[in-house]
Amino acid sequence: MKAAVLYEPKTPLKLVELDLDEPGPGEALVKIMSSGVCHSDWHVIKGDWGNIPMPCVLGHEGAGIVEAVGQGVSTVKTGDHVILSWMASCGTCESCQSGYPNLCQRPPAAQAKVRMKGESEALYQMAGLGTFSAYTVVPEVAAVPIDKSIPFPQAALVGCGVTTGVGAAINTARVGAGSTVAVFGCGGVGLNCIQGAVIAGAIQIIAVDMLDYKLDLGREFGATDTVNASREDPVARIKELTGGQGVHYAFEAIGLVEAPFVQSVLCTRRRGVTVWVGHAPLDTPVTIDARALILEKTIIASMYGSARPHVDFPKILSLYRAGKLKLDELITRRFDLKDINVAFDLLARGEVARSVINFE
Ligand SMILES: [Zn+2]
Ligand SMILES: [Zn+2]
Repeated sequence: MKAAVLYEPKTPLKLVELDLDEPGPGEALVKIMSSGVCHSDWHVIKGDWGNIPMPCVLGHEGAGIVEAVGQGVSTVKTGDHVILSWMASCGTCESCQSGYPNLCQRPPAAQAKVRMKGESEALYQMAGLGTFSAYTVVPEVAAVPIDKSIPFPQAALVGCGVTTGVGAAINTARVGAGSTVAVFGCGGVGLNCIQGAVIAGAIQIIAVDMLDYKLDLGREFGATDTVNASREDPVARIKELTGGQGVHYAFEAIGLVEAPFVQSVLCTRRRGVTVWVGHAPLDTPVTIDARALILEKTIIASMYGSARPHVDFPKILSLYRAGKLKLDELITRRFDLKDINVAFDLLARGEVARSVINFE
């Protein structure tokens, strides 16, 4: 099978032929139909997150069809359409039992491995998935069955970016009806923070970005106001737009440099909640005056939108079917696997909301 593999940070992905083991007990073999191109893949390519073992099959935002299941599998069957979750959960640890399988302390990993054709050493797969590949084997808990009417490209995006953004607003922050919101970054995740806030009933949503094209996208997804941070101070402008108060909730959905992390705290009002959604490169310190939090402000990080995939994936798809959540509009470009490096060039230049790789 064909897959896109990273051999060294800061180099293009290479298309190679791989072999894949049969699914073992409790595992499912999934034929990937679509895979989103996410900023987290780009972080790994750039080496932002330190020493991830290589060679590595990248990709963690995928949807496909179950082709076979191993012994004892009961929650999916051959022919099911599934969205893959990049955080498989054990179901019994403290986090899982507290309703946070996104923070599972003992995530199961598939025993079946991918290998270079004819070689014995297993390749690393990003987040245990490696969706830039024609097939993958996952623990059954990581394959969430969905309605067959949902197109695969749209479904794939729910596997990471959509759930991360919508979940940050609805699950992590619990944005309240009638509240005011600021979202820093109008990429794949930030746009979904915006639409999560819309669904939760926010009445004012201020999108912040450096690119006017991204701010236009922000409006399309429900932002009521926009601030171009390359031209004006976002904190001052957000205060001005909220009658001097600041917002109830702010989301940092960039994760590249310090400034927006700080600004996302300074732009909130008394008792305001800041959610850090962006995953910064290693060694990105954030310096905030201790008094910035003194009026009972909160900073919380969001991991995978505090998602419970078996609850949240179907819920998000119901919102999509009801016309209350945009997925089609997120897909800017579609590519074959062979053109994956072009998709990353576009991502790096901020020219897309999301690109999707389609497999036949
Ligand atoms: Zn992702
Ligand atoms: Zn667990």
